[in-house]
Amino acid sequence: MIERPFDGPLAWNVAGLLAEDPGAERVHEVQGVQIDLGEDLRLDEPIEGRVRLVRTNRGILASADLHAALALECSRCLRDIAFGVDPRFQEEYLPSLDVATGRPLPAADEPEVARLSDHHELNLETPVREAFQLAEPIALLCRPDCPGLCVVCGGRLDEGTHDHPADEIVSRLEALLAFRADDA
Ligand SMILES: [Zn+2]
Ligand SMILES: [Zn+2]
Repeated sequence: MIERPFDGPLAWNVAGLLAEDPGAERVHEVQGVQIDLGEDLRLDEPIEGRVRLVRTNRGILASADLHAALALECSRCLRDIAFGVDPRFQEEYLPSLDVATGRPLPAADEPEVARLSDHHELNLETPVREAFQLAEPIALLCRPDCPGLCVVCGGRLDEGTHDHPADEIVSRLEALLAFRADDA
């Protein structure tokens, strides 16, 4: 039998585990894994942790306990922040084929359940991606009292000095007003 390569770094072939009795388990270490998190979100540190796969009466229960850092920025000063997250979740996967006969199992009765592939592969990439997307905070700050950006020069208020002379402030305001006038 030719071993098919797994469909990504968070996928495991569970044919052997499906052939065992309920309660049997495998633990897989997750190390240095990079996945695409979709638009506007990326990893600052790769995914580490472990995934425990347990044979249940009906399929495989996957429990993920992971850690990674998201590359985000402060919502006030736009400074880069590596934001550590520790998603944990469980999901039960049911076979799409009968292990003994290889015949498709009816999926129509329970369209909402997670399914193993027809090669008995359990792929956690989608739930892991969703767990990281959900872990992204709405308004992240580099520190609670981040003063944000200077309205005159656009620099960070906690870097350098911002005692801009009055004429600089006035010319900046004039430029802004002219821009608004053009807009209207
Ligand atoms: Zn900030
Ligand atoms: Zn300034």
